[in-house]
Amino acid sequence: LETKEEYGHKTLAQDVMRPRPSDPLLVVFTQEGMSVGEIEGVIADTDYSGFPVVVSQESQRLVGFVLRRDLVISLDNARKRQEGVVSASLVFFLEHVPPQPLSGPPVVKLRGILDLSPFTVTDHTPMAIAVDIFRKLGLRQCLVTHNGRLLGIITKKDILKHMAQMSNRDPDSILFN
Ligand code: ADP
Repeated sequence: LETKEEYGHKTLAQDVMRPRPSDPLLVVFTQEGMSVGEIEGVIADTDYSGFPVVVSQESQRLVGFVLRRDLVISLDNARKRQEGVVSASLVFFLEHVPPQPLSGPPVVKLRGILDLSPFTVTDHTPMAIAVDIFRKLGLRQCLVTHNGRLLGIITKKDILKHMAQMSNRDPDSILFN
């Protein structure tokens, strides 16, 4: 974010985050309950660089963030190196995997590739503050929550796109420094 433009105080994280209200839902993984095949399916159907991991679809409570490339490598490794792993094998991002029925296929543990402290802001955080943090911490993306529930994601590119749009439409709302 080398641009000289700054956000005015009016733009909030909720104005920049994805998904937009008309978009498909945020694509997340749950910390337990999903299979290798399901996760591979989501990876194949989307091209996002990363995915939030939540406690459950109902709670949308954030557990961490996993990069697409780490997921691809780890699932590939598990299939190649871990005896008996199949599409139906369950994937756990949990620290302690609950006891599994002996009859089932072995589980795949992916806690190790989870970023447990992804940067988050609330939907009402002014973008001026979010952009400052993006710059200072060199972030690629940041998650957006409301009352502890995950709402969306903002990538560096989302910010740049939004800045470009604002400068076309409403130059007065951008402060030049
Ligand atoms: P970039 O913005 O650099 O292209 P991505 O490919 O990860 O990065 O994201 C593409 C778009 O999809 C962005 O607008 C981003 O906000 C959004 N996005 C990123 N991850 C997800 C996700 N897991 N679910 C839904 N939308 C996402």
